[in-house]
Amino acid sequence: MTLQLARRLKAVKPSATLSLNAKARALSAKGADVLSFAAGEPDFDTPEHIKDAAKAALDAGFTKYTATGGIPELKSAIVEKFKRENRLAFAPEQVIVSVGGKHALFNCFQALLSPGDEVVIFAPYWVSYPDMVRLADGEPVIIETSAADRWTPDPKELRRALSSRTRAVIFNSPSNPTGSVMPRKALEGLAEVLRHHDCLLISDDIYERLRYVNEPFVNVANLGPDLAARTLVVNGLSKAYSMTGWRLGYAAGPKELIAGMQTVQDQSTSNAASIVQKAAIAALSGPDEPVQKMVKAFHARRDRMVKGLNAIPGVSCLEPDGAFYCFPDVGQLIGKRYQGQPITGSVQLSEILIDDFLLAAVPGEPFGAEGFLRLSFATSDEKIDKGLGRLSDFVSKLQ
Ligand code: PMP
Ligand code: GLU
Repeated sequence: MTLQLARRLKAVKPSATLSLNAKARALSAKGADVLSFAAGEPDFDTPEHIKDAAKAALDAGFTKYTATGGIPELKSAIVEKFKRENRLAFAPEQVIVSVGGKHALFNCFQALLSPGDEVVIFAPYWVSYPDMVRLADGEPVIIETSAADRWTPDPKELRRALSSRTRAVIFNSPSNPTGSVMPRKALEGLAEVLRHHDCLLISDDIYERLRYVNEPFVNVANLGPDLAARTLVVNGLSKAYSMTGWRLGYAAGPKELIAGMQTVQDQSTSNAASIVQKAAIAALSGPDEPVQKMVKAFHARRDRMVKGLNAIPGVSCLEPDGAFYCFPDVGQLIGKRYQGQPITGSVQLSEILIDDFLLAAVPGEPFGAEGFLRLSFATSDEKIDKGLGRLSDFVSKLQ
């Protein structure tokens, strides 16, 4: 048989972040001394009180299917979280619990898009946004931003990108991969444009808690009830509570969209794991100290990595205000020769680093930013120093 895969798969690629992580892990398993800056996850353990809640749920036999969109107690904890931390009011029927923030976004596009519908995405973007849109038969429309503008989008370009086919615009602050936090003023400029265009706003707030600035967190829904009414806020436990493997995310927004997402989920995954939902209540309603402790550690590591990167000739890095990624400009290294061959781009640069220097750093190209690398500082000081030593060693060998 000649196996024919679906046409829609031709337009999408496997996730660049996940595949580099898998490669680094496979090399480590073979005994190689790999240093990975590729991981999109905190290196801390999940806080004890959250693990205890999962164990208690398991012991109590809470091991059956639940309502597809989440158990009522968890929905209440999410509603409370939005009220307490984001000054946003949602009813329980405006909330859905999914198998990660990624799943919530995927379900949103499945529920929202028809062939040819457009979704506006600011570059650099998280690798999965364009492909999730394509998997739902939509078309990503990319707006470039630059390091010189601290990755802030230009409202005029947003106005130009919007069309009668635009169904949604995605915001992601703090951003993966740049770590930039959108200042309130910049968000207001973009919001003014969006007030004249009727489409969904998606605010991916997954890195909300990981910020190294003192200003209060703000998203597009905070800029007025008119915008809040058409925003889908996506969040999850992965980053703030160091729970990437537990797979729990949630979204809140327009009732009809949430109902559509629930139908997609009904016919695909059903509910997020029952015991993880109980753990999620403990995460969202429990003590905040573990999060604060982790943020403090990331802050110091960020300073260390930024300083180390900027000390390497040909590498320059803005200070990220959030998330746990440095996104240095390595454009000056591209075109130089390594072992007699010119380096053609960030993908090749990343391959040389892992193959010859056992250093995993994600190339900028799949994030829509050629000439950059993404390095996670969710790792120890020792590994940061050692990894930057390897990067420096590589740079010293270029001609
Ligand atoms: N959004 C962004 C920008 C991310 O980096 C991630 C990380 N995977 C997610 C959403 C989804 O995370 P998760 O599915 O683990 O909740
Ligand atoms: N979001 C993380 C990253 O960008 C996790 C991997 C993924 O889901 O892409 O590395």
